[in-house]
Formats: sequence, structure tokens, C-alpha cells
Amino acid sequence: MSDTIFGKIISGEIPSEFIYEDEHCVAINDINPQAPVHVLVIPRRGIPRLVDAEADDQALLGHLMLAAGKVAERLGVDDAFRLIVNNGAGAGQTVFHLHLHIL
Ligand code: 5GP
Repeated sequence: MSDTIFGKIISGEIPSEFIYEDEHCVAINDINPQAPVHVLVIPRRGIPRLVDAEADDQALLGHLMLAAGKVAERLGVDDAFRLIVNNGAGAGQTVFHLHLHIL
């Protein structure tokens, strides 16, 4: 678990509505949406940045992509969404617990 806002959301320390969850990840609505649908898919395991992921994380990374597709289907945007991962402060990453943006 990471000591970030997302780590606290996943642990329940900060209450948040999970619009999707499974054993490996949760999805929440972004607090500051940049599109009509803006959802964050967050692994329960707290990897700071994509470049910090290791070979052991391969299945988890694939799982996040599949979960994003399921969330998009549930939200009815499966024909029109983008996935974004900001890696590093230089790319605008502000929460250092890896996450996928669904927009
Ligand atoms: P990043 O810039 O790190 O790729 O994305 C972090 C995202 O988390 C931002 O879009 C920001 O609006 C969102 N965010 C930050 N704090 C919270 C929070 O407490 N709750 C939710 N739901 N989203 C948050």
C-alpha cells in the first residue's frame, strides 16, 4: 500500500465510492474530471510510476487494461474512450501510485 491519497482511498482511510473493484484494482471517478467520463483505475498494489513496474508486475499491468475495458463497457463508453498513464512529474503525474485515466 502506498502512502498517497490513492493508498488511503484503497485502504478505506479516506472514504470513496468504488465504481468498480476486484481483487487487484479499484476504479473511482476523478475528483477533477477533464471529460464527461473521467475514471481512474488504481491497482491495490502501490507502484509509484509505470517505470517502477517490474517483470513480476506484468500480469497486474495487463489486468489493469482489462479492468479499464470492463469499466468503459459498464459506463457505456466502450466505443469512445482513451487510456492515459502520466509517468513522472514532468508528464504531469501528481499522485505517485500508478493509475490509468479513462477519458
Ligand atoms: P495524475 O496527474 O497523477 O496522472 O492524476 C491524478 C489524478 O487524481 C488527477 O486527475 C486528480 O484530479 C485526481 N485526484 C487527486 N486527488 C484525488 C482524490 O482525492 N479523489 C479522486 N477521486 N481523485 C483525485
